[in-house]
Amino acid sequence: MKMAKTYTRKDILGYVRAIRMLTALCLVLAITCVVLSVLLAKKPKGTPVNPSIDSGSNVTTSSAPAKDKEAAALAKDLENWNLVLVNAKSPLPEGHKIETEAIASAYARDKGMSFDKRAVDALNQMCAAAAKDEITLLAISSYRPHERQQVLFDRELNEVKAENPGISEEEAKKKAATEVAFPGTSEHELGLAVDLNSVEQTFEHTKQFTWLSQYANDYGFVLRYPKDKEAITGIIYEPWHYRYVGVEHAKKMTALDMCLEEYIDYLKENK
Ligand SMILES: [Zn+2]
Repeated sequence: MKMAKTYTRKDILGYVRAIRMLTALCLVLAITCVVLSVLLAKKPKGTPVNPSIDSGSNVTTSSAPAKDKEAAALAKDLENWNLVLVNAKSPLPEGHKIETEAIASAYARDKGMSFDKRAVDALNQMCAAAAKDEITLLAISSYRPHERQQVLFDRELNEVKAENPGISEEEAKKKAATEVAFPGTSEHELGLAVDLNSVEQTFEHTKQFTWLSQYANDYGFVLRYPKDKEAITGIIYEPWHYRYVGVEHAKKMTALDMCLEEYIDYLKENK
């Protein structure tokens, strides 16, 4: 007759030892798995998993090269008339001449107001489109010849001198330039800038401004001196001042949330 097996203390200790060894083995295996998976995850991205897919083809996972290509195409316009940058640091070259054309009388406050000949149609079309939406856009300042800017500046300079007896010529000029751009540094001399309706900050709260915010880009215009870019443009927020840059550039600048200074730098970097 078979006897039922009885476990001795020695047997039990043997089993416990075996279980402990198994557990240790499992632990070592688990740790090895974790280490291996971390190492694999860190594998350089440039190493193709399947060389036949990656090598020699343009099918890449990154979209950056496509973006650069687009910017490079836009950068071809860097030297074009529509992207000329005029500010205190980059004045217009002396004797800069442009051909201007009168703005359609319905959209100009004063007779004879003119704009760069190459962009005047865009301005007229924008005003006409606004009119269709029952929005009145009226140019109150547009192309300003250099001589006119000089007259405006001199008038301001005299006022500053009268208000500050004993002020030095240099200081007076600096002070005057905070109100009226120094001749050669006003975008209005370029013939591509227009002030619309009112030169008051409250213009921001009008339906005209709302319309412009939505559609000006479609006609190649941008809000030239945005609220949050004062440190870069050097000009206070001017909700009324619009600059023609062309449709493609206007849309790109808005998409990138860049003012003209930033946009020109961006194009130069991607040239
Ligand atoms: Zn202006």
